[in-house]
Amino acid sequence: MIDAEKIRQDFPVLEQIVNDEPLVYLDNAATTQKPKAVLEALQHYYETDNANVHRGVHTLAERATADFEAAREKVRAFINAKSTKEILFTRGTTTSLNWVAQFARQILQPNDEIVISIMEHHSNLVPWQQAAQATGATLKFVYLTENGELDMNDLRAKITDKTKFVSITQVSNVLGTINPVKEIGQIAHEHGAYMVVDGAQSTPHMAIDVEDMNADFFAFSGHKMLGPTGIGVLYGKEELLNTFEPIEFGGEMIDFVYEDHSTWTELPWKFEAGTPNIAGAIALGAAIDYINTIGISEIHAHEQELLNYVVPKLRAIDGLTIYGPTDNSKRGGVISFNLAGLHPHDVATALDMEGVAVRAGHHCAQPLINKLNTEVGATARASFYIYNTKADCDKLVDALLKTKEFFN
Ligand code: PLP
Repeated sequence: MIDAEKIRQDFPVLEQIVNDEPLVYLDNAATTQKPKAVLEALQHYYETDNANVHRGVHTLAERATADFEAAREKVRAFINAKSTKEILFTRGTTTSLNWVAQFARQILQPNDEIVISIMEHHSNLVPWQQAAQATGATLKFVYLTENGELDMNDLRAKITDKTKFVSITQVSNVLGTINPVKEIGQIAHEHGAYMVVDGAQSTPHMAIDVEDMNADFFAFSGHKMLGPTGIGVLYGKEELLNTFEPIEFGGEMIDFVYEDHSTWTELPWKFEAGTPNIAGAIALGAAIDYINTIGISEIHAHEQELLNYVVPKLRAIDGLTIYGPTDNSKRGGVISFNLAGLHPHDVATALDMEGVAVRAGHHCAQPLINKLNTEVGATARASFYIYNTKADCDKLVDALLKTKEFFN
């Protein structure tokens, strides 16, 4: 079992007092805090190895290149990809999914269909809307059961031989729902469609095996898994990546440049135009090392334990509604909720006065929030990670009870 109290000591940011209260950080679905090991990796790179990658022959350039490519190997192993050729560094999930939607534009035809779900984050929705508009393809949505799970009957009806891309989040950033992406991929493949998985909310919290999942593309962000902002990953099957044209052009991604045309270098660099986020990639590698030391399955078990502890206490609060699956084993450590009669922004502000950081709003998932029929088109959201404790859960519950008392 995880010793969250011990882990907290690796996170200097958690030691602070906010509004006269010890900080309780429960906004991990938005971004996670960084352990010393990640901060040190950033500092070490800039202090001792700072140089541009791939092009230099001097010692610093060789060190920077070696560490950058070693980080790619750490990512490969972490998600069990076959080859580092399949690991593209991006700015984050949003960029990764935009790239896939750009690949899609290279092949979509007017009668083709794209299938996503109503629980997608805007970054797995708007790029597809744009791709559909640009190509004349149709964008179809899979809807949810009463319980906030994907309606698999609807999904089976929506995926047809016209479907070319199915793109689904593995874990909802609003409902916490864990979606059966392997099974969905099988259905997509039976119809000859590509399976794209948004792994932004799953990769930090559960073991990912892209081989076993048989995803064609898989996207995630470094900053939601203890790494820095501005670095993320797009996994793509090597044989598929070879069939698509690059999205960005310029230095680093070329083989030869002539006056009238150019040729591209090999994977993965074919897609990585310009100077990459070298420090970010190396620090993401350090984040993966840190997670591996603790164990991704232990992290998942820890969050399940916190859920099982706090959800009954939250449900016991009069007027509090929790959205998403009632069975905790079907959700990740994300709890969206509302207190009757109170705007979630007021709830989040009141919790902040108690030192408790939660998010409030539409969580970049407006079509989903519309379907939830909340009073004000928003929810409050608490989300956990490795350093959260049962004491944090108690503080959340106490702060909510105080909030209720204050407003009533
Ligand atoms: N997809 C999901 C499910 C998310 O929760 C998020 C971020 O909250 C994203 C995509 C976008 O990630 P980023 O902002 O790091 O690109």
